[in-house]
Amino acid sequence: MSKHQWITDLRKEIIQGDILIDEPLCNYTMTKLGGCADVLAMPGTMEEAEAIVRYAHQHEIPLLLLGNGSNMVVRDGGVRGIVLHLSKLNAIHIEGTQVHAEAGALIIDVSRRAASETLTGLEFACGIPGSIGGAMAMNAGAYGGEIKDVIKQATVLTKSGERLVLSKDELELGYRQSIIAKKGYYVLSADFELAPGSQEEIDAKVADLTFQRESKQPLEYPSAGSVFKRPPGKFAGKLIQDSGLQGKGHGGAEVSLKHAGFIINKNNATATDYIRTIDMVKEEVKKRFGIELELEVKIVGEE
Ligand code: FAD
Repeated sequence: MSKHQWITDLRKEIIQGDILIDEPLCNYTMTKLGGCADVLAMPGTMEEAEAIVRYAHQHEIPLLLLGNGSNMVVRDGGVRGIVLHLSKLNAIHIEGTQVHAEAGALIIDVSRRAASETLTGLEFACGIPGSIGGAMAMNAGAYGGEIKDVIKQATVLTKSGERLVLSKDELELGYRQSIIAKKGYYVLSADFELAPGSQEEIDAKVADLTFQRESKQPLEYPSAGSVFKRPPGKFAGKLIQDSGLQGKGHGGAEVSLKHAGFIINKNNATATDYIRTIDMVKEEVKKRFGIELELEVKIVGEE
């Protein structure tokens, strides 16, 4: 079955959303590089998202969930199959201390909305540029806070399109991992339990974390954030810095001078440049310190 047939079939079910063919994913990822998706499906409702998942499963079409593309590197050959992008499912509802957010909502927006309702707990996420779905899959965290601390439950779809509600324990959240990534579930929404706070303290914490992020991270360049996970008892950035790799890279990709844990797209890098730079870093750190750096970013697609 051709991708043109997928489009014809899916357009019968996807009325409120969009379906695009051969869509460049550099426009949807924060590294601003990489090839095209055969099909990019952006459902307008939960039911449309379910229909796409079921269709892909039924016809054995590979399906990749793309959140806000802030932790993903797409290879230059692009992604075969359907890329599901939930950016249109972005509602946020707050009732008392409970926050409900759809998977495509940005966690920065959820953090901001919670702060505006004087709720504390999500300040750590005020600068994490991911979607709720991506943050759940990665158990995103920063400055001593993580999703695990505030999540109550999440609604997911299995690969075959069955809807499940998973409790905090069932989500098996650990350092940059979850049952979602392990089982290939698709997050539809998440419910957080926050606490009433002091507006002054919330605002001060957000201001402090924003200052720390802006002064330490190369936010002026496209990147995927921290490329590597923290090895036990160490900091990946420090190992890279001590390996003398800052400012080095391939093509338009470079290890940031401001934060060695970031690889930036400095000058029209290709995904090949970016991935060669990752490999260079891994090799040098292994040579100098005998430590095998593990990727935090997800590399997807074909060369
Ligand atoms: P994507 O990059 O689109 O995808 C990441 C993974 O999540 C993929 O495997 C994807 O398939 C999966 N995924 C996405 N949506 C769903 C869904 N709905 N259901 C199931 N799986 C899904 N991360 C931190 O933890 N802390 C930080 O402080 C931090 N700072 C960053 C700063 C910068 C400048 C950048 C660029 C990134 C930073 N990151 C940080 C990384 C990134 O923002 C997080 O990992 C974020 O949670 C990824 O969300 P996303 O929506 O962009 O996911």
